[in-house]
Amino acid sequence: MFESLRKIVIISILIFLSSSPLFAKEQDKKKKKEEPKKASVLPKLNTVALNSKPEKKKEEKKAKPIVAEKKGSKRLKGEAVEKQEELFSFSLSGRKFAQGELLFLKLKPSPRVADKLGNFVIHWEGQEIPFAQKEGYAYAFLPVSPEFSKPYAVLELIEKHFFTKNDSKKYEIPIQKTYFATSKVSHLTMDKQYTTEELPEETKTFIKECSEAKAKAFLSKSDLQFENDFEYPVPNPILNSPFYKRRIYNKEKGRPHGGSDFKGGIGDPIYAINDGTVILARSMYYEGNFTVIDHGLELYSLYMHQSEILVRPGDKIKKGDLIGRIGTTGMSTGPHLHLGLRVLGTMIDPLSVVQTELVSVKTKSSKP
Ligand SMILES: [Zn+2]
Repeated sequence: MFESLRKIVIISILIFLSSSPLFAKEQDKKKKKEEPKKASVLPKLNTVALNSKPEKKKEEKKAKPIVAEKKGSKRLKGEAVEKQEELFSFSLSGRKFAQGELLFLKLKPSPRVADKLGNFVIHWEGQEIPFAQKEGYAYAFLPVSPEFSKPYAVLELIEKHFFTKNDSKKYEIPIQKTYFATSKVSHLTMDKQYTTEELPEETKTFIKECSEAKAKAFLSKSDLQFENDFEYPVPNPILNSPFYKRRIYNKEKGRPHGGSDFKGGIGDPIYAINDGTVILARSMYYEGNFTVIDHGLELYSLYMHQSEILVRPGDKIKKGDLIGRIGTTGMSTGPHLHLGLRVLGTMIDPLSVVQTELVSVKTKSSKP
């Protein structure tokens, strides 16, 4: 395994202080000289996982709310892996290469094979991944499931013209463990309609109808709809409950938390975390007043428990648009915003995109 890991050269762990557009190549070139990149090797990735452990412990104690970074403040360090092949180069970047995180793939063919980019097939852990083509680059999002259980994930790039010997090549991408929190939730705080075992027929029918509407909405597939990094959905982000926290209701293990809960009062504004199209905006049994935005490439943001929905399916949304108001509708113990991020059917930590320079990452491989 380490043999092949070594093949992947980690060029840099990058710190970015300001947002820059996804396709701004000019800016990339200018900044490249200012930030010399140092080669670092794989153990760098290990240190990230170790650092994240005490952080999570703090969350478990729940003594103080975690103050997430404010809008406009600098983003966290990201990690990047880069590979130069004979006929193309690519980079992978993300907040960290770990369970529950989203990675961003940027691939650039050499001019000789540039016209073959459309034939490219990308497999991530055996699943074909949709990608966008812009200005000679291919862009794709690779989700790492919170349940991912191997030390590395396999990225396979397939296009016979891009390789001299084979039709494809596999790369092992090291994936670290994430230490997710657990907490006990008293049934006393939950409305009894969500804790009673036998639900009335009428409710069962409504739940079924809700899940069908969701399934139908997630069939929506579109090309990449944004060019810049993600932003927090609330102006003063304070995290009430982190992603994938396992809640124990009435001594029984509940499902892990599928998103991040932000503190807020009833009526507080909710903003779109990026550009996209509304594909669902309605009342649901568990999610309450629920909005889903399609950002393209099967990446969706989900906003739950709202007191008010201010958009309709089909609306084109820009990052930062007011889309609803915080509430406590559905299965909720008090006013807050539950933000979810769904990528290719996998729930991902939304903070992995709002805290990192993800799509605007600059890499050496971006040759003009
Ligand atoms: Zn939640």
